[in-house]
Amino acid sequence: MGGLKPFSAIMMNLRDITYEGFLDLAVSMGEKPYRAGQLYRWVYARGVSSIDEMTDISLALRERLKEKYCITGPSLVDTFSSEDGTVKLVYELSDGLRIQSVIMPEGKRTTVCVSTQAGCALGCGFCLTGTGGYKRNLTLSEMVTQILSAGALAGEGRSITNIVFMGMGEPLLNLDTLIEFINILVDPAGFAISHNRITVSTAGITPGLQRLGTDTNVNLAVSLNAATDSLRSELMPVNRKYPLSGLMEGLRSYPLHGKKHLTIEYVLLGGVNESADDARALVRLLASLKCKINLIPFNPFAGAAFKSPRDEDVERFRDILMKSGYMAVIRKSRGADIGAACGQLKARDLARLSKEKTLEAEGC
Ligand code: SF4
Repeated sequence: MGGLKPFSAIMMNLRDITYEGFLDLAVSMGEKPYRAGQLYRWVYARGVSSIDEMTDISLALRERLKEKYCITGPSLVDTFSSEDGTVKLVYELSDGLRIQSVIMPEGKRTTVCVSTQAGCALGCGFCLTGTGGYKRNLTLSEMVTQILSAGALAGEGRSITNIVFMGMGEPLLNLDTLIEFINILVDPAGFAISHNRITVSTAGITPGLQRLGTDTNVNLAVSLNAATDSLRSELMPVNRKYPLSGLMEGLRSYPLHGKKHLTIEYVLLGGVNESADDARALVRLLASLKCKINLIPFNPFAGAAFKSPRDEDVERFRDILMKSGYMAVIRKSRGADIGAACGQLKARDLARLSKEKTLEAEGC
């Protein structure tokens, strides 16, 4: 993905091409290199959906481009609007799989939650998305289209200000394409979104941390959810492969690029990981790590093995962290009434929901 690849009988999607790929494209068509920048801006900064819209490119060149290239992306097949303003977008990919994005408006800020995979292989016990299994990584064009469609649907006078990679899938297991996409997002000639307004959330794929921190300058969030290997492995099977000692080492050496802290996400599960002892174990685990902590009370979905924590237990957990010097914030999931909170949907439910327009599933 990214660079220009050998051309086959299949049309190549311009949304799958990085700037370097556009340079190769220009050369291969006998055009001057500046054409690369022109095409790149049309595709990403202006977000056109057809080559015909590239009005400062000669008709003859547009016709030649159309012989080999197209502009396409996943089809938006459904939208669900929440009482709190959150909008969930459901897309069908070219192979029939379904993914989702979520638009979260708040004041002047409009955040889009982006999916990086169809399904997810990690099977976190509190996440409905994980129960559907892994299907495949998303392509660059499938991620780009989520941003372009969200921008078009964000509402009158609103543009996308923030991006969080917390949708379907584990971003660090689609790292090459993720980094290509981030580079286009932050490029002033691309989407021109500040790296400070982009957050990648991982379940703890330790080997991917250094490269993400070296090749990009975005915010990192880690879904931790337990302070001991035994409990974390139970909740998040990925912990068996990448246990806490290595993960914490990776986090402590993660390049912050002048940022103040990482974000630790902790889903509070009633009777499982929200006791005072759990909070104190978390304080010990996080010692000397520059981080803030988001506490997310679990919203049960049909068939979930966990229950919501009690409000008083959530507050006690937060207070222990705060008294130990950590910034800890209790976060309510957005869009709970439309199942738009993180990890709430799997492909089967997406298909069902598109018919019923109702929601019964909630997750982390
Ligand atoms: S919480 Fe994230 S990493 Fe875990 S199963 Fe769900 S989508 Fe995958």
